[in-house]
Amino acid sequence: MQVTIDQHSGFCFGVIHAIETAEEYLAHHDTLYCLGDIVHNSEEVKRLTNMGLRVISFEQFKELRDTTVLIRAHGEPPETYRLARENDIALIDATCPVVLRLQQRIRDFYQNPDNAGKQILIFGKKGHAEVVGLMGQADDNVLVISSLDEIDRIDYTRPAMLYSQTTQGLEQYYHLIELIKSRYAAVGNERLFDYADTICRKVANRATQIADFAKQHDAVLFVSGEKSSNGLYLFDICRKANPDTYLVSQVEQLRDIDLTGKEKVGICGATSTPMWLMEMFKKCLQCQ
Ligand code: SF4
Repeated sequence: MQVTIDQHSGFCFGVIHAIETAEEYLAHHDTLYCLGDIVHNSEEVKRLTNMGLRVISFEQFKELRDTTVLIRAHGEPPETYRLARENDIALIDATCPVVLRLQQRIRDFYQNPDNAGKQILIFGKKGHAEVVGLMGQADDNVLVISSLDEIDRIDYTRPAMLYSQTTQGLEQYYHLIELIKSRYAAVGNERLFDYADTICRKVANRATQIADFAKQHDAVLFVSGEKSSNGLYLFDICRKANPDTYLVSQVEQLRDIDLTGKEKVGICGATSTPMWLMEMFKKCLQCQ
């Protein structure tokens, strides 16, 4: 069996930066609190936990005083920064620069008096940390669209500005834009709708690469945490390109996968999948 790891898979620069920031801090301190999973991959979180990282919820964050907390790549709403100031918490801000730029755009739009009364729409996953951070830039005056049927909730008599969570699929986003445009056009208000392409190309470009990779192999192991929206999106693309694709997060799952007769097996993952984990899968396959 020939096993190949996709060299384009693995952490994006936003996640690498957040992890390196945590590692640097933990090299000189025993503990660092992190608001939410630093990355949607439990194996990597386990590794960092062993170094002293303590993942906390927002409720736990509210109880902390006089300590240091890391903000992960997904970013946070202004409320988090306000609470930190009030409670003497030093923040180490590892928000990805791409997310920071999007937060700034939404904030600028919302605070511009020319945009008063305009609807702000975000194509994204409800409750996802990045979306929560983005909504906060507009005091939560945002309509989050998670699925196409939710466009019924838009008021087509009022102007709207649409943004996307950075990790959404490019194809789905442009499909949504066309649908919203046609609804506005149906009531003669096409000029009231505008949108910004705010999808991170680190994710968008992966779609084509990963489909090509999947097609070149007899079977594919897609290594990702089940909480990673980027992971589930890329897994879906992989499976469409090669139905013999398996979503795995721990090497123990290999026991349930029958790869008999597969000569070329590919291993790939999401932007939240550590390279060391994909290498571990490769080693296990080669030992079988
Ligand atoms: S996927 Fe893109 S926006 Fe998200 S953390 Fe990575 S580089 Fe930043």
